[in-house]
Amino acid sequence: MGATPSIVWFRDDLRVGDHPALHAAVERGEPIVAVHVLDEESAGVRPLGGAAKWWLHHSLASLADDLSDRGVRLVLRRGPAGRVIRSLVDETGAGAVFWNRRYGGAEREVDADLKSGLADAGLEVRSFGASLLFEPWTIRTGSGTPFSVFTPFWKACLAADEPRHPLPAPRELDGFGGPYGRGGPAGDHLDDWGLLPTHPDWAGGLRETWEPGERAAHRRLHAFLEEDLAEYAAGRDRLDRQSTSRLSPHLRWGEISPHAIWHATRERAAGTEGARKFLAEVGWREFAWHVLFHFPDLATRNWRSEFDAFPWPRLHPSALTAWERGRTGVPVVDAAMRELWHTGSMHNRARMVTASFLTKNLLIDWRRGEQWFWDTLVDADHASNPFGWQWVAGSGADAAPYFRVFNPELQREKFDPDGRYVGRWVPELDDDGYPEPIVDLRETRAAALAAYERVKASK
Ligand code: FAD
Repeated sequence: MGATPSIVWFRDDLRVGDHPALHAAVERGEPIVAVHVLDEESAGVRPLGGAAKWWLHHSLASLADDLSDRGVRLVLRRGPAGRVIRSLVDETGAGAVFWNRRYGGAEREVDADLKSGLADAGLEVRSFGASLLFEPWTIRTGSGTPFSVFTPFWKACLAADEPRHPLPAPRELDGFGGPYGRGGPAGDHLDDWGLLPTHPDWAGGLRETWEPGERAAHRRLHAFLEEDLAEYAAGRDRLDRQSTSRLSPHLRWGEISPHAIWHATRERAAGTEGARKFLAEVGWREFAWHVLFHFPDLATRNWRSEFDAFPWPRLHPSALTAWERGRTGVPVVDAAMRELWHTGSMHNRARMVTASFLTKNLLIDWRRGEQWFWDTLVDADHASNPFGWQWVAGSGADAAPYFRVFNPELQREKFDPDGRYVGRWVPELDDDGYPEPIVDLRETRAAALAAYERVKASK
C-alpha cells in the first residue's frame, strides 16, 4: 500500500511553532499535505474585512515560506471548506485530517459536519486546542453555567491547570508528492486571490506599521517583554505612548499562540505587576471567546436582551460618515478614527472612546460601528470585536454600565496630556479648516440617558 498522507488544515493558526495539528501529523509519520481554504461561501461564515484580507495575504506568504523551508508546500484552495477538504482527501488518498479548533458558531458547524463525514468514511480525524489557553467548556461557575463576569472567570482560569508549554516547530517535514511537496495537489496562486487592495492601494499605512508573520510575532513579543512590560501596568492606557504589546493581529491570525505568550511572560517576569496585568488582558481575549462560544450571535444580537428595547433613532448617514472619516470635530475621536484608517489599528482606550461616542453621543446602533471596525482593523476578531462593542454599548457581558458615557475631552486630558497623539493625527486642529463638533456632548449625553430609561423599563 502507498502512503496515506495526513492533511493539516491551517485556519486561524498561521504558524509552524506550537501547532498541535501539525505536530500530530509529524507523529503519524506519513507525508503531509498542508492546506488553507479561503471560505466565503459556507453558511454563516463572516466574510473578512479589507484590512484583515491584507494581513491574511502576508501571513499566508510567510507561512508558505516557513513550510517550504521544511519541505512542505502550502496548498491554497477557495470555496466552501467542507467540500474543498473532502475533494482534497479524494485527490490525495489521505488517511487522516488534522486541525486546530475554531470556536465561532458557523465554523463549528462546518467542522463538526466534516469531522463526522470523514470519520464515517474511515479517516482519522482529530482536532486540537491551540488558540485559547482554556477550552470554553472547561471553565464553569460552581453551578455549571458559563461565567458572565470577567473577574471570577479569570480567577477560575488561574485556578485551573496551567496552560501547556508550547510545542517546538518541526525542523523538517515530509511533503506529500515528492521532495518539498512538488507534484502534490494543485492549488491557487496567492496573488490571484486578490486579497491586497489595488484600486486604490490604501495599504501604505499598514505596510509602514506592521510586519505580519510568525517570526515577526515572536520578535514583537520579545521586544515587548524586554522594553515595555515593566511599564505596562502604568502606561497601557496612555494614548501617546506605545507601551502595549501590539500583538493583537498576530494573535488574531494565530501567528503566535497564547501559550507561547503565557510561558514567555511568566519565565521573564512571573510575579510582577506588569506580567499579572498583561496576562489578565490576554484573559479578556479568552473571556470574549468563551462568551462567543456560548452566544454565537454576539456580532448581531444584544447579549442582554433587554437592550432589544433600546430606541435607536433613525440613522443620520452623514453622522456615521463623519465618524468613520475622523471628521466629527471632536479631536480625540477624530485622531483615533484616522489612526484606524491609516494603520489598521487603534489603541484600546481610543476604541472605547470612539465606540462610546458613536453609540451614546451619536446614538448610532453599536452594530454599525462593529462593522466598520470589522472592515478596517487588522486584528478584527470574531469574538473581541463584537464583545468590545457590546461592552461599551452596555448590552454585553460584564459591560460598562450604559450610563457611563466617556467624556472625550476628559479622556484626552488624562491619556494624552501633552496633546501628542491628537497632534499627530489631527494636525489642522488649530486651523480654520477643523470642523465644529457635529453634536453637543452634554445634550447628546442627556438624550442617551433618556433613551436608556426605555431599556430599564423593559427589564
Ligand atoms: P495589549 O494591551 O498588549 O494586550 C495583550 C493582548 O490581550 C492583546 O493583543 C489582545 O489579544 C488581548 N486584549 C487586550 N485587551 C483586550 C480586550 N479589551 N478585549 C479582548 N482582548 C484584549 N481586540 C482584538 O484583538 N480584535 C478586535 O477586533 C478588537 N475590537 C475591539 C473593539 C472595541 C470597541 C474595543 C473596546 C476593544 C476591542 N479589542 C479588540 C480589544 C483591544 O482593544 C485590543 O485587543 C488591543 O487594543 C490590542 O492592542 P495590544 O495587542 O497592544 O494589547
